[in-house]
Amino acid sequence: MLLSASEPIWSLGPDAVVAGLLSAPEGLSGAEAALRLERFGPNRLPPPKRRSLALRLADQLLHFMAILLWVAGALAFAAGTPELGLAIWAVVLLNGLFSFWQEFQAERTLEALTHALPLQVRVWRDGHLAEINAAELVIGDRITLEEGDQVPADARLVSATELSVDLAVLTGEAVPVARHAEPIPPDGPAMPMRERANLVLAGTTVAAGRGEAFVYATASDTEFGHVASLTAATERGASTLERQVGRIVRTITTIALLMGLVTFGLSLLFVGMGPLESLVFAVGILVANVPEGLLPTVTLALAINVQRMARRRALVRRLSAVETLGSVSVICSDKTGTLTCNRMALQATWLPTEEPGLDLELLEAACLCSNAYLLRSADGLRSIGDPTETALVQAALERGLALETLQAEQPRRRELPFDSRRRRMSVVVQHGEQLLLLTKGAPSELIGLCRAELTGRGAVPLDDEGRRRAAAANDALARQGYRVLAVARRPGSGSLLTAPAEELEQNLTLVGLVALYDPPRPEVPEAIRLCHQAGIKVTMVTGDYGLTAQAIAHQIGLLDPPIGAAHPVHADPVRVIQGDHLDQISDVQLRQLLRHRSRLVFARMAPEQKLRLVRSYRSLGEVVAVTGDGVNDAPALRAADVGVAMGLVGTDVAREAADIVLTDDNFATIVTAVRYGRSVVANIAKFLTYILASNVPEILPFLAMVVLRIPAALTVLQILAVDLGTDLLPALGLGAEPPEAGLMRQPPRPRDRHLLDRHLLVRAYLFLGLIEGALSLSAYLLAWQAQGVDALTLRHLAPSLLDGSAGADVLDLQHQASAAAFTTIVLGQLGVLLACRSERQPALSQLGLATWRANPLLLLGIGAETLLTLALITVPPLAALFSMAPFPAAWLGWMGLTPLVIVLADDARKRWWHAP
Ligand code: ADP
Ligand code: MG
Repeated sequence: MLLSASEPIWSLGPDAVVAGLLSAPEGLSGAEAALRLERFGPNRLPPPKRRSLALRLADQLLHFMAILLWVAGALAFAAGTPELGLAIWAVVLLNGLFSFWQEFQAERTLEALTHALPLQVRVWRDGHLAEINAAELVIGDRITLEEGDQVPADARLVSATELSVDLAVLTGEAVPVARHAEPIPPDGPAMPMRERANLVLAGTTVAAGRGEAFVYATASDTEFGHVASLTAATERGASTLERQVGRIVRTITTIALLMGLVTFGLSLLFVGMGPLESLVFAVGILVANVPEGLLPTVTLALAINVQRMARRRALVRRLSAVETLGSVSVICSDKTGTLTCNRMALQATWLPTEEPGLDLELLEAACLCSNAYLLRSADGLRSIGDPTETALVQAALERGLALETLQAEQPRRRELPFDSRRRRMSVVVQHGEQLLLLTKGAPSELIGLCRAELTGRGAVPLDDEGRRRAAAANDALARQGYRVLAVARRPGSGSLLTAPAEELEQNLTLVGLVALYDPPRPEVPEAIRLCHQAGIKVTMVTGDYGLTAQAIAHQIGLLDPPIGAAHPVHADPVRVIQGDHLDQISDVQLRQLLRHRSRLVFARMAPEQKLRLVRSYRSLGEVVAVTGDGVNDAPALRAADVGVAMGLVGTDVAREAADIVLTDDNFATIVTAVRYGRSVVANIAKFLTYILASNVPEILPFLAMVVLRIPAALTVLQILAVDLGTDLLPALGLGAEPPEAGLMRQPPRPRDRHLLDRHLLVRAYLFLGLIEGALSLSAYLLAWQAQGVDALTLRHLAPSLLDGSAGADVLDLQHQASAAAFTTIVLGQLGVLLACRSERQPALSQLGLATWRANPLLLLGIGAETLLTLALITVPPLAALFSMAPFPAAWLGWMGLTPLVIVLADDARKRWWHAP
């Protein structure tokens, strides 16, 4: 592309750079950019190579559990029951395919989300600054970069102000290095591109300052493109939840294996079965207990909820964040933009003396000392940039001061950028013959640097009394929740351009104060109330002044005592802690404070203090979510359990460091995300309970055979039909349940609490499972009874049924009774399904139409389960294969009570267990 240049791009002067790239000083035209995009392709790296589909299908067919089932199938063949062997193998195949589909589905969902937040860049097109998708960037484009931006392509700087970049993606070292716009001699030492100080490379980030650059390489031609094509695709790391479930699956499979062995021994020794029949039974028990399809269902449940969260404006960047969200116990939230609307507007000004014209001076100085700019769009002039500054520019515009005119009259000669530690910024502008330093920033410090104040007669000396007056004015405005900035200036000569930064902001003349108001978001008070109800502490962390922060905290109800607490407000201990005070207290004291006080406000916080706060909370065992938007927030975002970045105002750096990105920057969205996080974990517990419960009725008939010496109520194939047929879709439906109503009225779930805890096991096996098992066994016995065969007679029939010598009429009765037991299990699972829908609410209160409409998958599951059961019993070839026969329809009358019995029993248990 460098057609006319004989020298490398870093050696050219700015004009030659522009010419060499066949561009223009004001950037490309839209038409030329479109042509180049067409010709050279989008600025996007090709997607990383993934494991092939065939290999991934093989994964699903060859893991531990699958291999166990392959062997079980082979054993069934060896035992002379080929139809069972085939059935088991079919199960492995079907289950593998189903899992494969689920994983695929989950992956596609997640992949779609990664494209939901494209990198935006500011680029000059047709002579105007525009914002476009980074993929549309072409060679020759002129881009502007500022603190926190990710560099979208390799580019050569043509201007740079205090610019430094972070090369961590290329070098692994997160140290900012300075950049400039000057040419570098071509015959300098050979060095890697990243060390050429007038280049900015794709993938690196702007650590500080601002700059303008021309793009000279895009997509795979960039340095990052070369590196990226070398490294293999990064695998999506399994979340703790998935690892936990993986462990559960292995544990249960091992138990199943042991039970199979015990079964084999028992039936051989005590029931008097032949070794082959014993083997078939053992295989059946094994297969019945293996939790097929559990892991993919977990993954799909996670994906479904991630998708739901995205629709509600929370983009999940790391899957494991979903479950961690469910355990969040503290949210440390920024104030500006998250708790408030980030819509600053000038509310008031304060001047040392009320004389005409001074207020215009104030606005003029504030504007010139801003980096916001005006963008001409269809609906007039729009100011772009930091909300604090756009408010100032806008207010000036309303008073007839156009930024462009001001800047043309008083061009900027130097800038000391805003820094959240110094809390102020300065510029040096050309003011006629003179130079003028303009500073704006936090009043408490800036007022102290002033030695004079501006009046109609010019600058007059400022004494302590005058400073106190200004400080009092600041406090009065801050108490109303206003962000107050002091504006000061200092005339000077050439030394203003060369003197070191710290010598500049001294001996200033106070021009006045500006007060901006950023109203709280309307949905925040409710979200905070919800957090308190859900046992989540909310802590405000802001760089703003204590009084401002306190006023806003009051307005959003953060400082309100919890409902019912008899705290008179005046006895409220101090809850607003300023950064300088924080520096004086020890870690132990800080932990004491955090442990015993909720509803805290930390004001005037520097980024490293925020990091300290996060670490202290974590050392107390809290699960912390932290919001952040700036470059300096990245360490705190990484240190948090859940880092939450802002999608609208946040920097690319913060987004990269975060687990979750809010596309609306709204605090209430974090609370919604927490609700979904809780719901995922709850749903997984629900379908675990559901799947485990049916294992008991599947094993009980065999125990009954050993102990009572009656024929087995179920065959192995029937067990498989439940586990891999009727149970499958309803379990998936439970995983897709929307969050439950009472979810946010419970305390957060301890992070280390195991998913498969005693409560769940007892409920699934010893309560729901046992009831279902007893009912199904009773159904089997009642079925015989109805045909005039009592339990005693049945015992005599057992041997003939076992060795296959029973007559056709006896066999038909056995098939009917088996079908009755089978149907009872399916009906029982329906009851379990209803019982599992809510952890605490009685199932009978969950039957409303709306609850079904919210989750049609559940209805689909129940429908499919019913049809399958019907088919297995009434379609002759199926019925023959599964050893079942249609029974008198009248039996359905009492079988229909099964779900009711289970639901009522579980409702009683819920009432007793969760009794207040
Ligand atoms: P927050 O946590 O509310 O986003 P910031 O770090 O942005 O806080 O700001 C901290 C303080 O710095 C503000 O209270 C204000 O006094 C000062 N400040 C903020 N923005 C600017 C700016 N653009 N120019 C000068 N001072 C600023
Ligand atoms: Mg801010």
